[in-house]
Formats: sequence, structure tokens, C-alpha cells
Amino acid sequence: LEDSSYATKATSKPDVVRVPGGVKGRRKRIVVTGGAGFVGSHLVDRLIERGDSVIVIDNMFTGRKENVLHHLRNPNFELIRHDVVEPILLEVDQIYHLACPASPVHYKYNPTNVMGTLNMLGLAKRINARFLLTSTSEVYGDPLQHPQVETYWGNVNPIGVRSCYDEGKRVAETLSMDYHRGAGIEVRIARIFNTYGPRMSIDDGRVVSNFVAQALRKEPMTVYGDGKQTRSFQFVSDLVVQETIDKNAKIEFRPNTEDDPHKRKPDISKAKELLGWQPTVSLREGLPRMVSDFRQRLFGDSKGSLD
Ligand code: NAD
Ligand code: UDP
Repeated sequence: LEDSSYATKATSKPDVVRVPGGVKGRRKRIVVTGGAGFVGSHLVDRLIERGDSVIVIDNMFTGRKENVLHHLRNPNFELIRHDVVEPILLEVDQIYHLACPASPVHYKYNPTNVMGTLNMLGLAKRINARFLLTSTSEVYGDPLQHPQVETYWGNVNPIGVRSCYDEGKRVAETLSMDYHRGAGIEVRIARIFNTYGPRMSIDDGRVVSNFVAQALRKEPMTVYGDGKQTRSFQFVSDLVVQETIDKNAKIEFRPNTEDDPHKRKPDISKAKELLGWQPTVSLREGLPRMVSDFRQRLFGDSKGSLD
């Protein structure tokens, strides 16, 4: 998201700052919706670190103030409790739109994807801000093409229990492209695949957070269905996860949710080629960091594993 061609139409007087890398430039003003959540708070860290001015909009549905607590005294940081389903007026240069109940246990209850995205695109249009939507691998539904390339259109049940999320994000993508084509808004769409790490909601029901929390609490690990479904971290349903956290953890099989994708894996050739991007933290490296964060939050103790 680094932008060398950055130009602003902002009306207020810009701060002049020395941005990391020694370049003298104008401090970018950025809104991060959902910035008190798991992914959002890590993004905020990165933006603040590179010298941007950040406004987080979050209704704290699944986000936590603790995730951004370390920025509260920073004059370049602001936290607004607000539901993006309602419009908001702000003057910024870029909008990172993450706000969305992202876990299957939460997302069924909320029209955030459609209404929230519409409001944020409306704001982007009004102030001519660049807009980034965090979409999801769920737009591919239960994919018939594997691995999934950006040009694959997906296989989504429009009336299933997951469809408010899958179709909600597909609508959000459609709206983003319509605003791009119709109003000239610069948009970015990032289709994020299953992500895990510190600050993840402990009880949001996603597989990695469930397994880590269950193992730490000495509860059986719940495997839905036959446990053969895969994700981009295919490890979750096999012994690697179990080993890293607790070698003696019990496994409990439960019925799977409806329309659960059988397999999912991104084809990242284009990201590698165009952005020079590829994941660098292996599961064995990343999971202990998350275990340590969960331990700290559950028991006030940050030892990385149960050994
Ligand atoms: P999260 O639940 O930790 O963060 C979502 C944030 O949005 C929370 O802070 C929540 O309080 C806020 N929010 C929800 N509804 C809101 C509303 N109506 N108004 C204002 N704020 C609201 O989830 P996350 O994993 O950090 O997900 C962030 C984004 O990334 C989401 O758009 C999600 O769809 C996308 N994504 C995440 C993953 C993943 O594996 N973590 C995968 C694919 C896509
Ligand atoms: N899953 C599981 N046990 C759990 C939670 C989830 O076996 O305690 C399964 C779930 O059925 C799905 C996979 O793990 O097949 C990933 O689920 P998650 O909710 O983490 O993400 P998503 O379905 O959005 O990929």
C-alpha cells in the first residue's frame, strides 16, 4: 500500500514530517475502520510506525480498546467509537475499510458489509480518498478451482448460512469497483485468506483461535466435520497445531457448519510477481507468538508453549 504517486485534495494545512526512510513529506491522514480488531490493530501499528496520522473507527463489536491502547497518547492517533452502518464525515486521504464481523459466529448478525462499505465508499467519493477493502477468500465460496487465482469467480451459495459474509463481501467488492468506474475512486481490494496471530479474538470461533484457547484451557480441540477440509494454513486440522500447543490435547469431532469450503489455498503467483510479496513467517514460528499472547490474556502469563 505504499504509494509513491500520492497526491491529496485535502483542504486543511498539511503537517510536514520526515517519514521513515528519510524522505520529507506530508503526513498522510488515514481512516482504518475496524482498527481496534485483530488485523486492523496490526495495520494501525504499521501506519503509525511509518509516520501516518491514523483515525480508527470501530464499534467494538469484536474489537478491543486494548489492541490500540499503546497509541492512545499519540497525537497522531484517534479512536472513534462508531458503527459504520451509519454515515460519518471526516477529512482524510485514505480509507482502509476493515470493519466487519469476520468470524462465522459473528457475521450472521450484521449488515456491515453492505451498508458499512456503501457509507465508506460514499465518504471516499466525497473527499476523494483512496479506498482499500479487506475482502476475503470466502468470495470463492466452496471453490471448484484449486488453488484460487484472482480471476476465479467462485462458487457461493447465495442463500446459505454463510452467504451474508460471502455475498456481503462480494457486494462490497462490486460496490468498490462501481465507485471506481463510476466516480473515479481509486480502490484496492485485498482478498485475505485465513490469518492467525496475537490479538485475535479468543472466543470468536475461528479454528486457530479455538484450538489455541482450547489447548491452553485444557479443553478438547473441536474438529468440525471429518477434519479433512483445508485452508491456506492446512495445518490446523492436523497434528502440527496440536504438537505446538499441547502434545496431550484431546480432539473432539463435531458436525461441520453448512457450506463450509472443503479446500482453500491461494495461488499467490501474481502477488509475488507484481508486489514482490510472499509470506515469511512459518506456522512453527508464528503459532508460539499467538500462544504466548493468548496465555497472557487468559492467565496473565506469556510463556510460549505448554511444555
Ligand atoms: P476482527 O473481528 O478482529 O476485526 C473486525 C473489527 O471491525 C472489530 O474491531 C469490530 O469491532 C469492527 N466492526 C465490526 N462491525 C463494525 C461496524 N458495524 N462498525 C464499526 N466497526 C465494526 O476481525 P479481523 O480478523 O481483524 O478482520 C478484519 C478484516 O479482515 C475484516 O474485513 C475481515 O472480513 C477481513 N478478513 C480477515 C480474515 C482473517 O483470517 N482474520 C480473513 C479474511 C478476511
Ligand atoms: N473448524 C474446526 N474447529 C473449530 C473451528 C473451525 O474444525 O473449532 C473448521 C471449520 O469448520 C472450517 C475450518 O476449521 O472448516 C476453518 O474455519 P474458520 O472459522 O477458522 O475459518 P473459515 O471457515 O472462514 O475459513
